[in-house]
Amino acid sequence: MKEFDCADVVPGCEARFRAGSSEELIALGTVHAHWAHGLTEPEMPPEVIAAIHAGMRDVA
Ligand SMILES: [Zn+2]
Repeated sequence: MKEFDCADVVPGCEARFRAGSSEELIALGTVHAHWAHGLTEPEMPPEVIAAIHAGMRDVA
């Protein structure tokens, strides 16, 4: 499992995601960004995706 705290990209956000792969984690983060952070593009910007990859960690 991979885990990611949205706060690593959006300070103060308490959302936390877990998924079986980094791709699924990015997909969950994208949905979250749409409803929670006003993302209007279908995809997150490359720098945000890079930040998620940097912030995600392996969990049991
Ligand atoms: Zn968030």
